[in-house]
Amino acid sequence: MTSSSTDDKYKQRMQRKKEHIDKKIAEANEERGIIILITGNGKGKSTSGFGTVLRCVGHGLKAGVAQFIKGKWDCGERNILEKLGVDFHVMGTGFTWDTQNKELDTQAAQEVWQETRKMLSNPELTLVLLDELTYIARYGYIDTDEIIEALNNRPKMQSVIITGRGCPQPLTDIADTISEIKDVRHAYNSGVKAQKGIDW
Ligand code: ATP
Ligand code: MG
Repeated sequence: MTSSSTDDKYKQRMQRKKEHIDKKIAEANEERGIIILITGNGKGKSTSGFGTVLRCVGHGLKAGVAQFIKGKWDCGERNILEKLGVDFHVMGTGFTWDTQNKELDTQAAQEVWQETRKMLSNPELTLVLLDELTYIARYGYIDTDEIIEALNNRPKMQSVIITGRGCPQPLTDIADTISEIKDVRHAYNSGVKAQKGIDW
């Protein structure tokens, strides 16, 4: 095959690709906020959520974060995002398996949930990250229907990111974008300790 016919084929392929992409772009003309669910057993769910918060703030837009469950962790993202004016709410207790007190955990979850409700009705916030929300719904600390109602009634242009494993089906059903991170390998399982700046 001559090099010019290879070039032609390449051009044709790219032209078809361009037509396909242009058609998709023309079709996607609805403007509204979305719900993104980042789930699965692999590492990268919270990192992805915080990456998007940074993207949002980087454009001068406002974002808020509610972190469920991991209150005792000195989360690196919090240290910088609060300085950037991001509204940040964290559950007071640590891991549920540390406290082993459902009443206390429920109370702590409710406190952050009340702050979350305020964020979900604030049209100034372009993005709200609900980190590890799935567990709160799964363990019944907050009623899944109540969460769904608050999400459905949020301002039209506001997007929400939910992270965590094992998201209850009704909550999964209202997500617009769902990514499942697969656990292919994790250093922890070869005995490597979790590290500041990498794991939290
Ligand atoms: P990250 O915060 O690193 O994005 P994640 O949000 O996907 O992780 P979580 O289930 O919230 O994962 O767990 C948080 C902590 O557990 C992190 O320190 C992370 O490195 C670790 N971790 C995540 N996935 C795994 C795994 N498959 N095996 C062991 N540890 C994991
Ligand atoms: Mg996480």
